[in-house]
Amino acid sequence: MGSQARVLLSSVFGPYAQDDEYGSRTINPMELFHNQVTRMQGPFSLRIFNRSWGLMLIQKNIEVPCTLLDFPTLERFIEEIRTHQYDIVGISSIMVNVLKVKKMCELVRRYLPHALIVIGGHISNLPNLADMIDADHIVKGEGVRWFRHFLGEDVDRSIQHPQVYTNIGTRTMGIRVRLKPEDDMATLIPSVGCPQGCNFCSTSAMFGGKGKFVNFYETGDELFDIMCQLESSMKVRSFFVMDENFLLHRRRALRLLELMESHDKAWSLHIFSSAEVLSSYTIEQLVSMGLSLVWMGLEGEGSQYTKLHGVDTFTLVRELRSHGIRVLGSTIIGLENHTPRNIDQIIEYAVRHNSDFHQFMLYMPLPGTPLYNEISSKGLLKHESELSLPDQHGQFKFNYFHPHIKGDLEEALLLRAFDRDYEMNGPSIVRMIRTGLSGWKRYKNCPDKRIRRRIACESRDLAKRGTAVVAAAKAYCAENPILHATISSLLEDLCNEFGSKARRAADLAGPLVLEQIMEETHQLQQGVTYEPPTFYEKSNTGREIQL
Ligand code: SF4
Repeated sequence: MGSQARVLLSSVFGPYAQDDEYGSRTINPMELFHNQVTRMQGPFSLRIFNRSWGLMLIQKNIEVPCTLLDFPTLERFIEEIRTHQYDIVGISSIMVNVLKVKKMCELVRRYLPHALIVIGGHISNLPNLADMIDADHIVKGEGVRWFRHFLGEDVDRSIQHPQVYTNIGTRTMGIRVRLKPEDDMATLIPSVGCPQGCNFCSTSAMFGGKGKFVNFYETGDELFDIMCQLESSMKVRSFFVMDENFLLHRRRALRLLELMESHDKAWSLHIFSSAEVLSSYTIEQLVSMGLSLVWMGLEGEGSQYTKLHGVDTFTLVRELRSHGIRVLGSTIIGLENHTPRNIDQIIEYAVRHNSDFHQFMLYMPLPGTPLYNEISSKGLLKHESELSLPDQHGQFKFNYFHPHIKGDLEEALLLRAFDRDYEMNGPSIVRMIRTGLSGWKRYKNCPDKRIRRRIACESRDLAKRGTAVVAAAKAYCAENPILHATISSLLEDLCNEFGSKARRAADLAGPLVLEQIMEETHQLQQGVTYEPPTFYEKSNTGREIQL
C-alpha cells in the first residue's frame, strides 16, 4: 500500500449499554469492572472506561498519517468516512459486536468505495467471519507487525509506546472521580499473549496459545526506559500493566525491580498474574516492585489448571492483602464438574477468598481456544438460532450444552455468585480501603524510604475520603449484620489510626457521601447507564480531541 496511505482506525460504535438491533446489550456495557466484576454492587460498582489500547499501539507504530476514532457513535463514524478520504479503514472488535462491524463495513463500502477494510481483534477468530461481513483482510493476532508489513514499513523497528491514561470517566457511589494526572495510571503494554495456554483463554489463544507470546519489550532495561518516558510525559507514577502474566517473564521483572531500586522509583504497579507465578516471588520482592493490585485466576475448587498447582490461594490472598496488595480474584462458573447441586459449595469456596474484587465469568468455549475445538468436535456448540452472537459475552448464557447445568440456569448461578460475594464481603471499595490500611500500618515506618514513599502516596486519602466512604457504607449496609460488623470494625481501625481527622471525616463527610450513594441508587433504579466519550486523535501530533 505504501507510504501515501491514509489510515482510519476505529473501535465499534456505541452506545453500548442498551439493547439494540446492532447487538448492544444493557448487561454488556463498555465498562470492564461493572460488566464482569462489580456488576451486582449497585451504587458501589466501579464505573470506568478503558481505551482501545491495541488501536492506539498500532497508530503509534505506523509511519503513515493515521486517525483514531475511539468509541464513536454511528453518526460520528458516518461523518468521518463521509467527509474524509481514507485508503484503509481498520476496525477492531470483540466477537459479540459482529453486527456493528458488519454495518461499519457496509458504510465504508458506500462512502469510501476504494478503501480497503481490515478487521482485527478477537472477532477475527470467528470461523465464518469472512462470510458474515464484507472485509478485505481479517487479521489474527498482533496488529502492529501486520500493519507495518502491509504498508511496506520496517516490521522490526522498535515499538513506540502510546500514552494511554488507564481510567476514563471514573465514577463510583454517584461521585465522579476527577483524577489529576499524578493520581491517574498509565497503561503499560510489555507483551501480549500468555504461554500458559489455559484451555478457555481467548487472549492466550489470540497470540498463539500454549508456549507462545509476543514481547514488545524484551528486557527490564527497555521497559524501565519506557516507564521513565511515560512518567515524565504523562506525570504519572502508577502503571496498569497490560500483560496477561507479567511476572512470568522473570528476568525482565527482576531487572525492572533492580532498576526501580537503583533509580529510587516509588512506582505502583497493577498487574495480571497466575497464582503459581506470583508465588514464585517473595513478598519482599513484590512489595519492592510496587505491586499495588494483582488480577489473578482462582478459577474454582479442584480445577486442574497447572497455574494453580501447589498454591494455597486462600493463604496467598490473605498474605497479599496484609501487605497492602489488592487482589482481584477471578472464578469460573460452569466448569465441567459444576452441577446445580454443588454450585453453592463452589461459590462459597470463591467467596471465602475475600479478595478485594471478585470476577465471575461463565465457562465459555470461544473461537480459537482449545476448549472451543473440543466442544465443537463433540457437537455440543449451540447454533446461533439458540443463542445469538451478541449474547455470547460470558455474563448471560452458555454458548454450548453444559453436561449438568441446563434450562438456562447459568445466569441465575452467576448472579448468585456476585450476590453472595457482596453479601459476605461488602463493597469492593471498602475492601480496598481495608487492604490499603493494612499496607499503611505495615510499611508507614519501613526503613526503605522508597517503599515508604509509595505506601504514603497510595494511602494519602485513607484518613479523610477513605474514612468518609467507610462511614457512609456502614450506614448503607446497616441491615446486613455481617457487613455492618465488618465495616464498623474497619471504621474503628481507621479512627484509631488517624485520630480526630478521621472522626471528623466520618461525622461530617460520611453523611454527604451517603447522600450521593442514595442518589446513585435511585438513578440506577431508574435505569441510568453510562457511555464513554468519543476520542478523535491524529497520529504523530499527540493531540487528543474529546467530542
Ligand atoms: S494463566 Fe491466565 S492469561 Fe495465562 S492462559 Fe491461563 S487464563 Fe490465560
